[in-house]
Amino acid sequence: TTRLVWFRRDLRIHDHPALKAACRGDGARVIALYLATPQQWEQHSMAPRQAWFIRQHVAALGRSLAELGIPLQVAVVPDYRASVDWIDAFCQRHRVTELFYHYQYELDERRRDAALERALDGKVTCQGFDDGVLLAPGSVTTGSGTSYQVFTPFSRAVIRRLSQALPECVAPPSACGTPLRAPDIPDFDYPEQTVSEADFPVGEVAAQARLAAFCHQTAAEYDAQRDFPARPGTSRLSPWLAVGALSPRQCLVQLLENHPDALTGGPGAVWLKELIWRDFYRQVMVARPEMSRYQPLIPWTAAIDWRDDPQGFQAWCEGRTGFPIVDAAMRQLNATGWMHNRLRMIAASFLIKDLRIDWRQGERYFMSQLIDGDLASNNGGWQWAASTGCDAQPWFRIFNPTTQGQKFDRGGAFVRHWLPALDAVPGSALHAPWEWADKQGMVLDYPRPLVDHKQARETTLAAYQAARNKE
Ligand code: FAD
Repeated sequence: TTRLVWFRRDLRIHDHPALKAACRGDGARVIALYLATPQQWEQHSMAPRQAWFIRQHVAALGRSLAELGIPLQVAVVPDYRASVDWIDAFCQRHRVTELFYHYQYELDERRRDAALERALDGKVTCQGFDDGVLLAPGSVTTGSGTSYQVFTPFSRAVIRRLSQALPECVAPPSACGTPLRAPDIPDFDYPEQTVSEADFPVGEVAAQARLAAFCHQTAAEYDAQRDFPARPGTSRLSPWLAVGALSPRQCLVQLLENHPDALTGGPGAVWLKELIWRDFYRQVMVARPEMSRYQPLIPWTAAIDWRDDPQGFQAWCEGRTGFPIVDAAMRQLNATGWMHNRLRMIAASFLIKDLRIDWRQGERYFMSQLIDGDLASNNGGWQWAASTGCDAQPWFRIFNPTTQGQKFDRGGAFVRHWLPALDAVPGSALHAPWEWADKQGMVLDYPRPLVDHKQARETTLAAYQAARNKE
């Protein structure tokens, strides 16, 4: 018997059900595979930073597997379609009898896996496992058996299920053979951009250490700290979760080890809710394929009259809108590949509801920069901000970028870090620097606001209302 484990967004050996199953100790030969798909990544606007992060993790995975005596083959094929033929041929060449992998829930990925299972039918036994979620999409449904469209009842149902039976983390397999030389990792034929290793160190062990430290030191205070981007109040684990160097199950287990009452509303409960949001968007993605097709989930919102404004879009991308909290957020994204959640909401809202630019432009731009880019969470977040998604922000609610800045960066530490041009502006005026500059008769080396927020708000409300009226 030869067993093949196909690694995708699950670049780890800890808590890897597919790897564990393939290595069950009956002497079978186990080999592993990773396929880079640069053309597919390009279509999905994957960030060069994420490509770099993935390559580093494939290399780390190759080393860990080599120590276990499992050879990892790494190859580059253009796209998912090509991966099906490639694996079919690979299985024949290596006399593979069983294939093990974790499901992915995006539409293209599901189609690829269905095509592969058809191609291998009768030749190779395929075994898929749920992963990348706390509970399998579709396993938690409403009383009438449909998927949840609203977060709070979904979250309650998930917590009920978790209270009955917790998912377990599986240990890494024991060695299948003598240690091997670590594999060579080919060039992925995709642009790459490095990220700061101090911010995002490579490897599942580093991720586990950050998780342990967060659960021990910060999770209990998460509710009070999470909305302030100048404070280290969130876990910053999203990059490892996005490439699967860490599993949400590992997060849950570690959280409950430190805070056993998180399931019943005790310390850590609010962080657990964030992990459940992640599952929520994944189960929506499975139930609503429109999400993978970049279509709005609320049909009437398809009729919103978006503005065509390449210059405004460019200013937003580059952090030159004249609203400090938005610009500092975009500069954090451009410089580091990561953005704080509160800022993702503010920056997205500004693009959509102040500039009235189609949320899909922002979604793609985020994807092209984020080290933690993930279709379900990113699309879910953008459709939340655009009021086009499941359980989204109501369409008539529009963030005021000035008061958001005053509320969540009151001391101005975050804005000052990213916008040194505002050094001279006193704290009380920091989030509306143009008003202060006008009073002083000063010209700042910083743009004036692209829009008048009050006016922009009115025209956006009218555009949403007009779309609703067409329903
Ligand atoms: P923590 O606050 O420590 O939360 C722990 C984990 O829970 C996160 O790592 C993440 O996996 C998950 N999580 C937290 N908040 C959310 C949420 N609102 N939705 C889904 N999962 C969540 N997250 C991504 O992982 N990838 C994206 O591409 C992405 N794009 C976003 C776009 C917009 C417009 C918005 C509003 C949110 C987006 N998010 C995305 C969700 C969220 O902003 C990030 O997951 C979070 O900021 C990551 O930081 P953290 O690891 O410190 O999170």
